[in-house]
Amino acid sequence: KPIVAVVGRPNVGKSTLVNRLAERREAIVHESRGVTRDRSYHDTDWNGREFTLVDTGGIESVKSKDAFAPRIREQALAACDEADVIVFVVDGTCGITDEDEEVARVVRKADKPVFLIVNKQDNPDSESDLWPFYSLGVGEPRSISATHGYGTGDLLDDIVAAFPEEHEEEEVEDDGCLSVAIIGRPNVGKSSLTNRLVGKKRSIVSDVAGTTRDAIDTVIEFEGRRIRLVDTAGMRKKNQVHEDVEYYSLVRGLAAIDRADVCVLVVDSTVGVTEQDQKLAATAIDRGCALVLCLNKWDLVDTEQARDRVVASIDRRMAFASWAPYVNASALTGRACAKVMQVACKAAEARAIRMRTSQINAVLDAIRETGHTVVRKNRRLKINYATQTGERPPVITFFCNAPDLVDDNFERFLENRIRAAFDLAGTPIRFKFKRKD
Ligand code: GDP
Repeated sequence: KPIVAVVGRPNVGKSTLVNRLAERREAIVHESRGVTRDRSYHDTDWNGREFTLVDTGGIESVKSKDAFAPRIREQALAACDEADVIVFVVDGTCGITDEDEEVARVVRKADKPVFLIVNKQDNPDSESDLWPFYSLGVGEPRSISATHGYGTGDLLDDIVAAFPEEHEEEEVEDDGCLSVAIIGRPNVGKSSLTNRLVGKKRSIVSDVAGTTRDAIDTVIEFEGRRIRLVDTAGMRKKNQVHEDVEYYSLVRGLAAIDRADVCVLVVDSTVGVTEQDQKLAATAIDRGCALVLCLNKWDLVDTEQARDRVVASIDRRMAFASWAPYVNASALTGRACAKVMQVACKAAEARAIRMRTSQINAVLDAIRETGHTVVRKNRRLKINYATQTGERPPVITFFCNAPDLVDDNFERFLENRIRAAFDLAGTPIRFKFKRKD
């Protein structure tokens, strides 16, 4: 999927514009519950062309405590590097600032299609003069009101037209091997783990053109099956260009997740689960990937307390994915690295499960016997039957008298019951509730 990066200094309206662009055509709404919605990217499509919008605004607010100008530059750098098309936003109500110039320098260097957006033109009859904005040297400015939506349809037409030719994506995705993305923060040991898995002899390196620029996948033979390690390029050669490695790895990770069946989230055991880990995990789940945690650097966890600390951080921060198995490993010593892959394969199987309708309904029978249901305003939820209506990840549709009665609590209860009855470790599952009396 092409990536459209929306860059610009703070407060020019990047996030508003991203939301506006994403909602023009019903954005793909991920079915997910209970995870943080703090997103920095949005999937959407326009005229049948799917793409990902990267909003650098969300990230900047996280980092707002840091020094300003260099941050802005770094972010723009990282975003532009990853993008196929750049949308550079400036504020039409206040002219060009030094920070705008800073971003413009980065944008010019990127040498990619750029759209210069003069935002906050809320009243089309009294637009500011666009002429001065030519001096930014990134082409023709166009005015827009992100708040009201003026001009956004045309902008989308032009963005889509500027995308590179479509890759033969199907070919890449559909070769029958399992795709595994190894994701995580910088320095947690992704490269080390990858190198362990790839080894020297076992590797068949294939230079498949991925959807991300210079994404290189490596196909390995593992215990008799072929596994595609998604985007090993980013891991095997370190990227020196980006000062903001954290951001870069986030964007890179997001792109890898898009192409994976299973995500192995590598966590540094000496640090525990961080907020960014949570974000990556939530994204993986949103995208319907199976999820496995690799608690790496376990060799450094040598006291009872240290161990408890890691486990506590998982309990606290991964509660929304308590079904995700974790493996204590050390990429340094080689401990349990193969196990990580075995667990990933099992998670992939769980994700591809076909549940028999009779078995699902046996669970429902058992639930009915407990009498547990939702009653509100004299209405009582009755589930008549259920069946699996989707896979990878599994989707179960429950036919019931009143879908509106279903609340988070009840859904969690159902999920626990279903998980107890089927081997679903490592895969997210989704529920739909349809009315049928
Ligand atoms: P990446 O940025 O996630 O790819 O991380 P690297 O694989 O480059 O590892 C970062 C640093 O952590 C390197 O110095 C590794 O040698 C070290 N490292 C990786 N895995 C382990 C491990 O299991 N134990 C210890 N002690 N160090 C590790």
